[in-house]
Amino acid sequence: MGIITLNIARIRSEAAGAAGGGAVALVAATKTQPYAAVREAIAAGVDACGENRVQELLEKNEEGAYSGAPLHFIGHLQKNKVKYVVGICDLIQSVGSIELLRLISARAAALSLVQDVLIELNIAGEASKSGAAPGELSRILDETGSLSNIRVRGLMAIPPISTKSGENRRYFAQMRQLFVDIREKKYNNVCMDFLSMGMSDDYLDAIAEGSNMIRLGTSIFGARNYTRQED
Ligand SMILES: *Cc1c(COP(=O)(O)O)cnc(C)c1O
Repeated sequence: MGIITLNIARIRSEAAGAAGGGAVALVAATKTQPYAAVREAIAAGVDACGENRVQELLEKNEEGAYSGAPLHFIGHLQKNKVKYVVGICDLIQSVGSIELLRLISARAAALSLVQDVLIELNIAGEASKSGAAPGELSRILDETGSLSNIRVRGLMAIPPISTKSGENRRYFAQMRQLFVDIREKKYNNVCMDFLSMGMSDDYLDAIAEGSNMIRLGTSIFGARNYTRQED
C-alpha cells in the first residue's frame, strides 16, 4: 500500500474519533501534486480534490487527474478567471465578496447551471488574507437571495498559521456559531451544509469545534515541492 493511501486511512480514523460519529468530508488539497499522487488519493477514497490555482487545475483536469472525484476550487479566485472554473468545479469554496458572487452567478446563468459555492470568511481579520469580514455576511446572503444561479452551501475559513496547538480553536468556534446562526435564519438560495475548516496542522481542533469538511495537503501527500509556476 502506498504512503498516500496509508496517510488517508490514518486521517480518516483520527477524524472519525474527533467527530464522535458525525461525518467529515475529506478534501485533498492537491496543489503541486502530480497526476499519480492525485490518482492514489482518489483511489483511497478522498471525498473531493481541491485546487488553488486555475492554470494548474485546468491542466490537471485536462489530463483526467480528478476523474472519479468532485473538484473544488479553494484558492484566491481572480475576477478574470471566474469563467474558467464555473461549471468545471463542483464547489467554489473561496468566495469572499458580493462582486465575485455576481460574476459567478452571471457565468453560471450563461451556462444554464447553478453553481455551488462557500462563502470564505477572513475570521481573524488578517490584512494579508482574502475573504469577507464576518460583519459583511448578512449583506452577502441577502444578495444571494436574488442570484438564482448560485447556491451557497456553507462557510469556509483559513485561520492564521498556528504555531501552538489549540491556538485556532476560538476562530473555529466563531465560525461554528456563524454557521449555526445562518442555518436558523433560512435565506433564499442558501443551504448551510458545509463548514469547511481545518488543515494539516489543526484539523482535529477544527473538527472538535464543528468542522464537517477538512482540506488537507501535507498530511496526505507529505511536504510540498513548489516547482509549478504560479498563475
Ligand atoms: C494548501 C491548502 C490547504 C492544505 O494545506 P496543508 O497545510 O498542506 O494541509 C488547505 N486549504 C487551502 C485553501 C490551501 O490552499
